[in-house]
Amino acid sequence: MKRTVVASGLRLEYTLIQSSRRDVLLQALPEAGIRVYAPKYMRLRDVDAVVREKAGELTRMQRDVEARLAENRRAHPVVDGSPILIEGRRCALRLHEGPRRTGRLVGDEYHLTLPEPDDDAAVRAAIKSTLSVMALKRIRERLDFYIPRIGRAPGRVAIRDQKSRWGSCSAKGNVNFNWKLIMAPPPALDYVVIHELCHLYEFNHSPRFWALVERQQPDYEAWKKWLKTHTEDLYL
Ligand SMILES: [Zn+2]
Repeated sequence: MKRTVVASGLRLEYTLIQSSRRDVLLQALPEAGIRVYAPKYMRLRDVDAVVREKAGELTRMQRDVEARLAENRRAHPVVDGSPILIEGRRCALRLHEGPRRTGRLVGDEYHLTLPEPDDDAAVRAAIKSTLSVMALKRIRERLDFYIPRIGRAPGRVAIRDQKSRWGSCSAKGNVNFNWKLIMAPPPALDYVVIHELCHLYEFNHSPRFWALVERQQPDYEAWKKWLKTHTEDLYL
């Protein structure tokens, strides 16, 4: 859940993750922003108070991770031959100059065409836009596969450049998916598709919800864990 606090005139947005832990854990992640893990029973205003108290430190942590990410990008520009993860496979990026941004996976090579193949930021943007198209296609296929099995269909389906979430389901039954799921192994993508479809029955993370997920994917916990531990590999 997204929350905002104001501390000494600064607006600080954070993602709250209520968990079974007994203390509060604060994290600053590149692209994903500030994450706060707090015990389920803790009142929201008490969590806000902790965040407000640590606002200065969190802002500094955030600035440091963003600087590290920028530095990393400078040190490792995306060039012809760079590795790129697609559907869990390590592929090689092949850059071509052309008037339109297009991407095509041929064996273990991802052929990317764009007007500015020498511009690192343009290459990253083209990877994102072309892989988003591939992600939407694959997610629609997997939705078509799981909808009859789960028995409910979502409303609108969209791909988002979500920084800290793999997918989400609104109260109206619209679902969003992170484009980076196309980089993950197919069962990890399936896990997120199943997860969001199961929210159409159970709009929570209760044991009943997890039982529905497990019925579709008995080893879902392994893929859930994969997504949690490989977030950093999927930064672009
Ligand atoms: Zn969920």
